[in-house]
Amino acid sequence: MRRPLVAGNWKMHGTLASVAELIKGLRRQALPAGIDVVVMPPALYLAQAVAGLEGRGVVVGAQDCAVEPLQGALTGEIAAVQLADAGCRYVLVGHSERRLLLGEEDAVVARKFAAAQSCGLVPMLCVGETREEREADRTLEVVSRQIGVVLEAVGVSAFARAVVAYEPVWAIGTGLTATPEQAQQVHAAIRAQLAAADPSVAAGVRILYGGSVKAAGAAELFGMPDIDGGLVGGASLNADEFGAICRAAGC
Ligand code: PEP
Repeated sequence: MRRPLVAGNWKMHGTLASVAELIKGLRRQALPAGIDVVVMPPALYLAQAVAGLEGRGVVVGAQDCAVEPLQGALTGEIAAVQLADAGCRYVLVGHSERRLLLGEEDAVVARKFAAAQSCGLVPMLCVGETREEREADRTLEVVSRQIGVVLEAVGVSAFARAVVAYEPVWAIGTGLTATPEQAQQVHAAIRAQLAAADPSVAAGVRILYGGSVKAAGAAELFGMPDIDGGLVGGASLNADEFGAICRAAGC
C-alpha cells in the first residue's frame, strides 16, 4: 500500500508577508494522518517555511537543485547539500517550466536527481508531454524517454527513494486537467516501465498527478489505482484549497 503524498509547488510566488500568511493558513488546516504533505516555496522562503511548519505534519521541499551536490563555484545555484542543511526533504527535478523555458535537458535532470539523492533528499521527478506531443499520439513515448534517461543514469533501485510526478504540460496552469482515465493510463505506463526493471521498486514508487489540480475533482483523480497523490501548483497558494486537496488524498 503506497502512502499518498500531496505536494504544493509555490513556483515563483510569495513575499515575506504573503508566505507568513500562507503558513498561518496551513497551520490551521486539519490534515489527514495517513498522507505525506510537502510544500515547495521559492528558495528565499525555505527557512521561513521550515520554521513556520515545524511539527505541523507539513515538510518542506525545494523547486530545483544544482547538478553538483556539494558547495562550490557555481554562481546563483543552490546545492542539494545546502537544501538539506536548510531543512528540505524533497526537491523537484525536471519541472516542465525548467525543461521548456530554461532549456533543461534530460541529462541535466538526471544529474540533479542523483545530486539530490546523494545528499539524502527525495527527488520528485517531473515528466509530461506537451499538447502537440499528445495530439501526435506521442505521450507514452515522451514520458518513457524522460523516465528512461534517469533510469539509465541512476538505476532502478534509486527509484525506491524517489517520487515521480506526471504533469502533462498542457494541463499546467491552464485550468485543463487530464481526466482520471487519461492520467491513469500514463501512470500505469510509468509503473510498467519501472516494473520491467524491478517489479518491487515499481510497486512501491509513488506517482503523483499534476496539472491544474483543484479540490473539486481531486478525489476522482486520487481514486485511480496508479495515482498516489498530487503535485499542485496554483491551488497550493490558497491554504484552504490546498488543505481540501490533502483531505481528498486521505479518504
Ligand atoms: C505545477 O506547477 O507543478 C502545477 C501542477 O501547476 P498547476 O497546478 O497550477 O497546474
